[in-house]
Amino acid sequence: MTSLSDLPIRDDLRGRTPYGAPQKAVPVALNVNENTHPIPEDVAADIVARVAAAVTGVNRYPDREFTALREAFAGYLGHGLTAEQIWAANGSNEVLQHILQAFGGPGRSLLGFAPTYSMYPLLAAGTGTEYIAGARDDDFELSPETAASEIARSDPDLVILCAPNNPTGTPLSLETIEAAYDASRGIVIVDEAYAEFMPEDQPSALTLLEGRPRLLISRTMSKAFAFAGARVGYLAADPAVVDALRLVRLPYHLSALTQAAALGALAHADEMLAMVGEIRTQRDRLVSELARLGYRPHRSGSNFVLFGGVDDPHAVFEALLERGILIRDVGIPNHLRVTAGTEAETTAFLEALAALGRPAE
Ligand code: PMP
Repeated sequence: MTSLSDLPIRDDLRGRTPYGAPQKAVPVALNVNENTHPIPEDVAADIVARVAAAVTGVNRYPDREFTALREAFAGYLGHGLTAEQIWAANGSNEVLQHILQAFGGPGRSLLGFAPTYSMYPLLAAGTGTEYIAGARDDDFELSPETAASEIARSDPDLVILCAPNNPTGTPLSLETIEAAYDASRGIVIVDEAYAEFMPEDQPSALTLLEGRPRLLISRTMSKAFAFAGARVGYLAADPAVVDALRLVRLPYHLSALTQAAALGALAHADEMLAMVGEIRTQRDRLVSELARLGYRPHRSGSNFVLFGGVDDPHAVFEALLERGILIRDVGIPNHLRVTAGTEAETTAFLEALAALGRPAE
């Protein structure tokens, strides 16, 4: 049997492990921060019709510039954005990969603030970019001062701020983003994968784009839009940044089927996003109920909650799995993470957790 180490693989990839959140068929899957509400049937029917129409043309390559889709994203994001400021790819993971391919690479570095999204170091590795794990403040917060001093200390070529942060749920203030931009000489990425779950009065980093050509804001349809399986992520930035990303994308990277499906979903944005309020309600319920059960939930601006006070995360994870409930052990000692599901899924999780008994004081 040939093993990985027998292959002439790149030295910098030796010994690494791939992204590997468990994919298990369980009744209650609350482990990868999806929107667990199915998409409305009338929207699904419209998407199917659009995809069916696109299929008749798949003998030809798709619009390489996905112009209609970029216009639709600009319209959805508002803030006076135009299509030339928009980029998209197969999930925001691919958007981030494009950014690292264009602006990172050998001899360059990316600074993230740990603990944060586990794909950042992997995307850095894949593109030969050095990854630097910067520090956060207590309770996983990130103040303008800490962000600026970590940037000054490591002088990275790129900085990535996850707002709100995965896996902690921590919202990020615009002041921290401004401070990071001012402190850095390079690209500043704000990963707003969970932006739609923020309180309505908290502005997006999109409000900071004007006059900041090194600021890149990445978004996804995988979370609030309930579109994870379609793989669509997008980005807002200066048109020159979009030109840079064109240099590294593969031609026709967004299939005609993906473009048609995404356009269909965006045409029904209100309906697709209708469950966001309900998901926020379940998230807030998780925070209060976890505290009542004796755990230590962290504040969350996203669709999941990280909670501490777990004596043996592995044992709790396994005990819940036995009951058909899949959550996430993110490797933070004494913590677990759970996605806010439907009311019934959230109830199933809370009841199963309560049945395991109170955590030790
Ligand atoms: N950024 C963050 C912070 C995420 O949590 C995720 C998905 N877990 C992504 C980006 C990537 O999502 P996608 O590729 O589905 O857009």
